[in-house]
Amino acid sequence: MKVCKFGGSSLADAGQVAKVCDIVVADPDRRVIVVSAPGKRDKGDTKVTDLLIACANGKISGGSAREELDAIVARYAEIQEALGVDAGVLDAIRADLEERLATDFGSDERFMDAMKAAGEDNCAKLVAAVLEARGKKARYVSPKDAGMMLSDDYGNATVLPESYDNLANVGDFEGITVFPGFFGYTRDGGIATFPRGGSDITGSILAAAVKADVYENFTDVDSVCAADPSLVSDVAPIPEITYREMRELAYAGFGVLHDEAIIPAVHAGIPICIKNTNSPEAPGTRIVLEREHIPGRAVGVAGSGGFCTISLSKYLMNREVGFGRKLLQIFEEEGISYEHVPSGIDNVSVVIEEAAFGPEAEKHVLERIRGELEVDDVGVERGLALVMIVGEGMHYTVGMAAKATKALAEAGINIEMINQGASEISMMFGVKAEDREKAVKALYAEFFG
Ligand code: ASP
Repeated sequence: MKVCKFGGSSLADAGQVAKVCDIVVADPDRRVIVVSAPGKRDKGDTKVTDLLIACANGKISGGSAREELDAIVARYAEIQEALGVDAGVLDAIRADLEERLATDFGSDERFMDAMKAAGEDNCAKLVAAVLEARGKKARYVSPKDAGMMLSDDYGNATVLPESYDNLANVGDFEGITVFPGFFGYTRDGGIATFPRGGSDITGSILAAAVKADVYENFTDVDSVCAADPSLVSDVAPIPEITYREMRELAYAGFGVLHDEAIIPAVHAGIPICIKNTNSPEAPGTRIVLEREHIPGRAVGVAGSGGFCTISLSKYLMNREVGFGRKLLQIFEEEGISYEHVPSGIDNVSVVIEEAAFGPEAEKHVLERIRGELEVDDVGVERGLALVMIVGEGMHYTVGMAAKATKALAEAGINIEMINQGASEISMMFGVKAEDREKAVKALYAEFFG
């Protein structure tokens, strides 16, 4: 059995939904289908999820949100009409949206998630109806009835362990099951969403729960490429990549698959295949547990901005037992997740996401570091990008770091930080945000040119 997930661009209009249905019926193993909400039809368009957020905000700020609601219904209407689905399905979608708008969910964040979830939920109902209109046996399954249980971190939820057992039978239906992505239910009955782009996570959880043979993730690119195609022309496609390599590249900005979507499938040993709805015959990229590596061969280069470092120094830090714990405890107590902690003998830096470190947080954290750790010096540097060269084939290969640093030096880029874990899956370089693109291009040319 295959679990297939279709992203927003694959469901953006009637033409795309028709392609999705063709892909599903072309292979009888495609029995569990996870859908996103309709996405952008072109560059200037707005995703249904963003329309829903605008609609919810309209209501929160005291407006009627009518205009936004009509715009959302219009997106579904175009698909329903063009694909010969009964008008009753559209009436039910409108009624569902009206009901959500009128319901008191207890707090703004719960209301917001209930609204955001409507995009996927109604899309799944509509896609099931389209398949039925084509004479296929299909059903919509509600995440509530199926038991997709999530934590109550609204807008940023994670799956609860009981979901896997609850969802184990979702694939038992003889026809095609259409399941909405992106949301589930909390233990106290609230509707909670994953982070944005989270339908990928739903697909991965379902693939693990039903023990699928493969998780096919349909998007709008033929394959994952070795670097961002908007930065590098004629970039090489990646036919096969390990979960670990993909996780590293996703971390550093590869947006093809949500980085939280890898783990559920990996734990269940299920390969993920990235495919293109617009050219389903293209082989795509397989994300697997193990593959053969050519020594010294990298698989991809990625870079993302939005990081900052808090650097501190203290004489004899290396001899002070517990210093690292006390430092990280400050970040833990302030609710700030750290990314990396490169260290020297008398100094250490903590790399964090800039978005989590506004001026208030900065003032507070620095005060605590000065007061509680009695450091000689502490400072913050913003505008950091992390650029990574990834490949398990780099393991134990002499000269990889030299190659990378030479490429960056020749491009005139100053390296602010170097980080390589003992696993040698990747090398990470901290550079100024304005050097990110140049660094990706230089590393790509060196390792793939
Ligand atoms: N529709 C949601 C979003 O736009 C989730 C998804 O598409 O995966 O983020």
